[in-house]
Amino acid sequence: MKMDQKAIATLLELAAKSLLSNEPAAIHALEELPRDLFVPLFIDAFLGGHKKILKAMVRAWPFHCLHIGALSIQESYYEILEAMTDGLQIHPDQNSSSWGSKLRILDLRQDPDCGTTCSEISTTFPFCFQSCVYSRHSILKTEEAQHNVKCLGIVNSESELPSTQKPIELVVDLSFNSTLRTKQFLSFLQSKVEQSFGSLHLCCRDLQIDKISAHKSVLQFLDLGCIDHLELNQAYLNEVTTLLAQMIHLNSISLSNISFKHRKGEDFRAFLIQLGQLDNLQELSLALFCLTDQLHKLLRILPPQLDTLCLSFCGLSNRDITVLSQSSQATYLRLLNLSNNQIFSEVYEPFQNLLEKVSGTLQYLEINNCLVTDSTLSAILPALSHCTHLRVLSFAFNPITMPLLMDLLQHLTCLMELKHVIYPVPVHCYEQWNFPGSLDRQKLAEVQAQLTAMLQVVQRDDMTWTTCPE
Ligand SMILES: [Zn+2]
Ligand SMILES: [Zn+2]
Repeated sequence: MKMDQKAIATLLELAAKSLLSNEPAAIHALEELPRDLFVPLFIDAFLGGHKKILKAMVRAWPFHCLHIGALSIQESYYEILEAMTDGLQIHPDQNSSSWGSKLRILDLRQDPDCGTTCSEISTTFPFCFQSCVYSRHSILKTEEAQHNVKCLGIVNSESELPSTQKPIELVVDLSFNSTLRTKQFLSFLQSKVEQSFGSLHLCCRDLQIDKISAHKSVLQFLDLGCIDHLELNQAYLNEVTTLLAQMIHLNSISLSNISFKHRKGEDFRAFLIQLGQLDNLQELSLALFCLTDQLHKLLRILPPQLDTLCLSFCGLSNRDITVLSQSSQATYLRLLNLSNNQIFSEVYEPFQNLLEKVSGTLQYLEINNCLVTDSTLSAILPALSHCTHLRVLSFAFNPITMPLLMDLLQHLTCLMELKHVIYPVPVHCYEQWNFPGSLDRQKLAEVQAQLTAMLQVVQRDDMTWTTCPE
C-alpha cells in the first residue's frame, strides 16, 4: 500500500515530537537519524526553544544550508541564535569529530519566503540560493580561488585554509543599538569570527545603526561590501559618505537625523558623489534631511529606474516638486512618500503634474501632514484617479472636511487595485483642528461607520479606510 505525502509528513512530525520529549536521547540519536527527520525536528526544536538540541543539530546537519526562514519566536531570541552559531564547526580541532556536518551556510535571518533548506536537485555550485556573491571570503570566491590554484598547479599553502577546513558562511541581519543584549550578541559574533582563523565569513545583508559614533569599532569586523540594506539614524553626513564608499552593493538606504559637521556644501557634494556610485540602488529614504531647492542635485545622480523614494521632513519646496515631476525617475517610481513637507501651501499644479507622470507605475503614495485642503484635493483628484496601479494611499493629518472625504471615496472606488486608504480625521471631529485632546471620538466613529456603509453600497468591501486619530 502506498502512503500519501501528507500521511508521511504527519508521521515525521509525530516522530520529531516524540524525540523532543527526551533531549539527551534526541541528541544521542542524531548520528543515526534519517535525513528526512532533520527538518521537522529542527522546526519543532526551534519553536520550542530547545537550545542544546539546536546546537547539536547544527553540528550534525546533513544538508548544505540551514535557514531560519519563516520561523519566528518571541523569547530567548539571541540565546537561540548563539546556540546555533555555537554548533558550527569552525575550530580546526573540531574537524576530528566523527560527526561530519555538511553544513556550509547557516542563515539566521527571518524571511517568510525561505524554506529550512534549499533543494539539492542542482548539484552544481552554488548550492544555496542565499550564498554570498560579493565578499572575497565567501564560499563562492574561496572555492573559485582554490579551484584556480589547483588548475594552475600552484601550491601556496599560506593562501589556503587547511584542507580539512571548509569555509562556512553565517548570514545574519544586525542591529547596532545601545541595548546590553545586542552588544553581547555582537561581541559573541566577533569572537566567533576571530576564533575561526578566516574560515567563517560573517555575512550581514541588512544593517541598522542607531548613533554611529557608538559603534565604529564593531563595524570593523564586518565585510561592508555584503550589505544591501542600510538603515542609519543619527550620524554626520561625512560619516555616511565614508560608509557608502565601502557599501558599494547597497540596494536600499534609509537615513534619518543626519547632520553636517564641516561645511554643508562640501559635505553634500561628497555625499552625492558616493551615492552616485551605487549602481544597484533601488530604494532611497531620507528623513529630517534638509533638501529645500536642492532636489535636482540628488535626482541627477540617482539611477533613473529608482523604485522607492521617501522624503519625509525634507523641507521640499514647490520648485523641488516641479523638478521631481520632470525627472526620469518619475516614470518608474512605485513608492513615493512626500509626507511632512508643505508642498501644497501655495500651488498644487507641480504635484498634479507629478501625479500624472507617476500614474503608470505608482502603487504606494503617502502625503500625510502636507497641508492638503479641500480645494487642493479636488483639483488633484482627476490625476489621482489615473493612478490605476495604486494599492495604498495615505493622506492623514490634513485639514479635510467630511463632504470632500465622501466625494473622494466615490471617485477612488473605481481604482480596483486600491485596497488601503489612511484618511485624515475630518475637521468637524475636532474642537480645534489637529489640537491634541480636542478630538470627539463619537463623531469620528460616525465618520468611520458612514464610510464603511458607502463602501458596501458600491461593493468595495475589499477596500479598507482607516485613520490614525493622534
Ligand atoms: Zn539554502
Ligand atoms: Zn558576504
